[in-house]
Amino acid sequence: MNAALESEYDNLLRCIRCAACLSSCPTYVLSHKEEEGPRGRIAIMRAIVEGHLQVTPDAVEHLQSCLLCEACSRACPSGVEMERLGVAFRAQTLPASAGHRSPSLLERFVYGWLFGELLHVRMTATAVRFYQRSGLRWLARHLGVLRVLGLRDKEALLPEIPDRFVVPEGQPSGGGEAVQLFVGCVMSTAFAGVSERTAGLARAFGCEVTLPPGQMCCGALQLHAGRIDRARELAAANLEAFDGQAPIVVNSAGCGAMLKHYGQLLPIEPRATAFAARVRDVSEFLAARQPLQSPREVRRTVAVQDACHLLHAQRIGDAPRSLLSAIPGVELRLLDEPGLCCGSAGFYNVTHSNEAAALQARKCDRIEESGADTVVTGNPGCLLQIRAGLRSDIAVMHVVDVLAEAYL
Ligand code: SF4
Ligand code: SF4
Repeated sequence: MNAALESEYDNLLRCIRCAACLSSCPTYVLSHKEEEGPRGRIAIMRAIVEGHLQVTPDAVEHLQSCLLCEACSRACPSGVEMERLGVAFRAQTLPASAGHRSPSLLERFVYGWLFGELLHVRMTATAVRFYQRSGLRWLARHLGVLRVLGLRDKEALLPEIPDRFVVPEGQPSGGGEAVQLFVGCVMSTAFAGVSERTAGLARAFGCEVTLPPGQMCCGALQLHAGRIDRARELAAANLEAFDGQAPIVVNSAGCGAMLKHYGQLLPIEPRATAFAARVRDVSEFLAARQPLQSPREVRRTVAVQDACHLLHAQRIGDAPRSLLSAIPGVELRLLDEPGLCCGSAGFYNVTHSNEAAALQARKCDRIEESGADTVVTGNPGCLLQIRAGLRSDIAVMHVVDVLAEAYL
């Protein structure tokens, strides 16, 4: 029996099989199969821990198809924490010695090299930028290379890489309340502009912003893949980098949820809980403060796509809406099925492309039905996933970018 999953036995026992979570679970909504829902997954894990079931490829598939979106945890009246269960299970099934497949070359590249150093992320982003601007992309698309390699859908998810990246070097800017900005890997490269505008917004709300050097990837991708040790190493590096007491502002919902999780990830590290308590999503941070100047008018009809790791994992839904409502000219539209995942979920849209495509299409339908001309989200993965599937006349933006139109 595996120690990681065994240590979650109390968590497993909390499930009273009430079914309150089923309609919130994206994979259950798609399949209507018990084993593709939270209750079925918990039953599988409990049977394994109690010795009634082996870790079969079938069991692995049902647990790997979970998006770790935390919608079920938020819906659960008994306090089941599905992310902890999913991570424990994946940690168990990760080693090749468990009788399952070895990590692929792509997985070793992504988890072992790419997200090991921000320098590696910047090198990879530079290579992608060369591909996008040199004519290679045009050739690959028009010669059908992507279709032959089965990469057409995945390539469409790539963000346009900007001219310059944000490199945290401890540089302070602005004046007032001290805050530290976490930019991590993707938000410092592919979304560097969003991070620059996040810093600008913090200044516009009366803060002095610092980007601590030595900050690393948050570790969420590694944790969700069951690579707990690597996630802990990255968390420890971030504890060192973010010294002091200042709030830590994050503009990626996935990273923010992970940073708030450091106390659980490093239970014997006394600084981890204090670090986690300082973390604020940018919308949460700004909504609790007043801007130095009134907002300009922004004429947009806006639908908010709640990122799972903002709404479910961090329980933040009001903050982006209250910030947007304060901007003259912005009209908010409601989405049907607001808490249902868009199918991004880290690398889910790469590892489970059929399910991700079905969730993407469903989300895009809901957005188009809302009549909004703009959809905003607080997570880069959601932004790319929706942009790749949505009608091109609907703008897909980070919430920071609409706020920037009003305040910067
Ligand atoms: S809502 Fe909670 S207790 Fe009820 S079936 Fe789902 S996981 Fe189990
Ligand atoms: S975390 Fe999401 S996908 Fe996984 S069981 Fe819960 S609701 Fe379903």
